Amino acid sequence: MNRVILIRYGELSTKKGNRNFFVKTLTKNIEHKLKNYSVKIQKDLGRMYIYFEDKDLDDITNILKNIFGIQMYHVAYIVNTNSDDITKSVLSILSSISFKTFKVEVKRSFKGFEYDSPTFCKVLGSAILRNVKDIKVDVHNPEILVNVEIRENESFIYLNSFKGAGGYPVGSQPRGLLMLSGGIDSPVAGYLAMKRGIKVDCVYFEAIPHTSLEAREKVVSLVKKLVNYTDNINLHIVNFTKIQEAIYRECDHDYVITIMRRMMYRIMDMLCEKLNSYVIINGESIGQVASQTLVSMNTINSVTNIPVVRPVACLDKLEIIDIAKKIDTYDISILPYEDCCTVFVPKHPVINPDKLKCEVMEQKFDYNTMLKETVDNVLTIRVSDYEDVNELL
Ligand code: ATP
Ligand code: MG
Repeated sequence: MNRVILIRYGELSTKKGNRNFFVKTLTKNIEHKLKNYSVKIQKDLGRMYIYFEDKDLDDITNILKNIFGIQMYHVAYIVNTNSDDITKSVLSILSSISFKTFKVEVKRSFKGFEYDSPTFCKVLGSAILRNVKDIKVDVHNPEILVNVEIRENESFIYLNSFKGAGGYPVGSQPRGLLMLSGGIDSPVAGYLAMKRGIKVDCVYFEAIPHTSLEAREKVVSLVKKLVNYTDNINLHIVNFTKIQEAIYRECDHDYVITIMRRMMYRIMDMLCEKLNSYVIINGESIGQVASQTLVSMNTINSVTNIPVVRPVACLDKLEIIDIAKKIDTYDISILPYEDCCTVFVPKHPVINPDKLKCEVMEQKFDYNTMLKETVDNVLTIRVSDYEDVNELL
């Protein structure tokens, strides 16, 4: 029997006016991810149908699991729209599994079919009871739910529903820039932002020679994991050394981290403008470290008017770690390379930094020229899901 994958959009179906756009974006994303397979994709208002070659089923379902915008999917057998054929096929499918209780659900979109749905439900149920030993019907909590959809040209039978990745298709929102360090939190933040449909690119601040090329490699490895959920990601590498050294030289050491992060946000603001991005995304989590108290966040955030989205702001570290393990970034994140934030970390960072004090310290060096020079010299690497990493200078 041939099979088809039925895709349910879930949350997408609620998007009345924009629905076409969302479905088109999802279709484009699915077509891209399945471009190496021989598939035929059709869609109607509520669902998408993927016709595939049997040998590719496992590969395809593994890919679909990572595509945002899919709420649920079923793998259905395709049968002729004829009551005898449908009954025989249901019995044949059930003969290969063991179960004690079942329920039949029939949906009939083809009104020319010889039975209405409740009657065909009974016909099928009786046939199953006659042919399979020691089973009974359980309408409330059946072990096996036999779904039958009667359609004009072909009908579908399926037993299982699989959970999709949920969310909105990547690209249904414009670009956002993720501040990606080598840590645990920021890749998770990037994953969650993509889940809401944002086309995420990444920005990594490095301070060579205080940080190593291995640290950069680690970030590239993280981007390679994130690209599983989209088609490509640009990784913008910012050389932060001069600015960081100036901060360390000119500012009170308890304020070094606060001012460093204000400079990072200023650069993010300039990069958003340059790269047509509408939001800054990062892995800040309320209260996690001194720079993430609400007072710190307020003092740091005040240098930009661009919205800052912090997907993990209200999660516990253990909840963040669970997601990091699920998306396979955790083992990379815990590799021990120094990050530019850790290299310059003071013994006692200020917990409630004062904006005015920051401004006074920042006046001690010509940071505007430095920021402009830094932004002009960003190195961009494109990480795509099908090709090797490309350097775009
Ligand atoms: P992570 O939050 O990624 O686990 P972390 O907790 O060590 O790493 P923090 O110092 O808490 O990072 O920084 C908070 C957030 O600021 C990070 O989640 C990340 O979004 C951003 N950030 C910190 N350092 C960098 C960097 N070197 N490059 C880009 N973004 C950074
Ligand atoms: Mg963190």
